[in-house]
Amino acid sequence: MTLRDSELQERPNPPVRRRAATIPAPESVTVYVAGSVHAPPRKKATAAAGIFIEAVDIRNKGRCVPKSEIQSLYVGELFATLEAIRITSKDSVLTIISAQSSVQEAMNKKLAGWEHEGWVGVPHRDILRCIAAELKARKAPTIFKLAVSGLSGRILCRQAAVLAKRAARTPTPETWDLTLPQGTALPGMSLQGNRQRVFYRSIREIKMQTVAPRKSTVTNLQKIRGAMENTFGRVVSDADIWKAVSVKDILPRTAQFLWKGIHNALRIGTYWTHIPECGERAKCRDCEVTEDLEHILVGCRSPGQEIIWEAAKTLWLEKEAVWPEVSLGTILGCGLAEFRDDKGKNKPGTQRLYRILMSESAYQIWLIRNNRVISRDGAPASEDEIINKWKFSINQRLQVDKSLANRPIRGKRPALAQKLVLETWSGTLDNEDSLPANWLREPRVLVGSRAFPQTQTRRRLRRGIG
Ligand SMILES: [Zn+2]
Repeated sequence: MTLRDSELQERPNPPVRRRAATIPAPESVTVYVAGSVHAPPRKKATAAAGIFIEAVDIRNKGRCVPKSEIQSLYVGELFATLEAIRITSKDSVLTIISAQSSVQEAMNKKLAGWEHEGWVGVPHRDILRCIAAELKARKAPTIFKLAVSGLSGRILCRQAAVLAKRAARTPTPETWDLTLPQGTALPGMSLQGNRQRVFYRSIREIKMQTVAPRKSTVTNLQKIRGAMENTFGRVVSDADIWKAVSVKDILPRTAQFLWKGIHNALRIGTYWTHIPECGERAKCRDCEVTEDLEHILVGCRSPGQEIIWEAAKTLWLEKEAVWPEVSLGTILGCGLAEFRDDKGKNKPGTQRLYRILMSESAYQIWLIRNNRVISRDGAPASEDEIINKWKFSINQRLQVDKSLANRPIRGKRPALAQKLVLETWSGTLDNEDSLPANWLREPRVLVGSRAFPQTQTRRRLRRGIG
């Protein structure tokens, strides 16, 4: 059908349609963030933050994190996140992509809870609180995403990591402003819906701020730091030391003993000097000196410590070439020891065996000393008894490892990785040549026959016979 001319003329003009005022879509910015830690031997570790937007962008950068913060990858990423928020306009939709799940999880899942609980007991809360406040000050949404392996996001995160790495290798003092934007942070904690234990922890935190650190604790921490630097070439912080006491390779009762040891909270030596009629207990009866943990663990002449450390060394040398020096510092800080192969790769099995040997040996020395002083009225145990008690404790650890690595719950992984257990004990087992490579299901797997022969054999070996 065609329209005629007249019809065309008669046709009324269409009404003018007024377009609704269109709001321009907000700008979208994607920032890739990463952290990096540079830890050269015998030097303090340096962490840095890296951000990458796109190639040839002047906002791409790497910056060291403040020296006052714990120098870790996670902290590096947190600072990178803060920088990403600050360099982006508040009106732009910001997507922050990281290759580590920790930052994304912290931001997406935990942030609201931490704020509700008043940040009580939250590690790195200064920086986290600052990020939370900066997020609130933004007008457009902020999205946190995890870079999926194999996709371009992961490659761009690596670019951010390169920038962070470069900054960490050439440390320069950086000033980070961690003041919170006005009106963005809620003071204190919510009284509504919070748990009792959070309130208690909060009260405890406030009280602890007014308590000066114990002098003896400071001395022990210094000893641990010194031992770690001299023996393992590691520079560690106090926070690292406290964290290493509770690593899962050390049993809770042993960890508690080490923790009390660092705090000088065991009832030995000077603990007794101020208690009437107990002054005698302060001294070691065999050595005539005031007892302290260092004396008990590495200095006492009474049968115990020397025998046990010798046996620990023998067992260790079955697997490794060098037995690190035993001192109060290496004992209390055993969770921090690191072992690497020729290529500089970590040896998790060796590290685990060291943690087990050092912590269990120290705890056995402590038990044997208590038994001598408290139950036996100073009469020492025989060499065989000492060796057998220790041998039993080490074998017990081996058996627990075996059952945890074997626990066959369908569809679930065992509580302990089989590979780690095999790596920990292989090289130290009795009759290892006759065992299969995976000996976890073998009924009688023991350690120690070579390291702890019976007394007669030991004497013969000492005299150089046989
Ligand atoms: Zn003594």
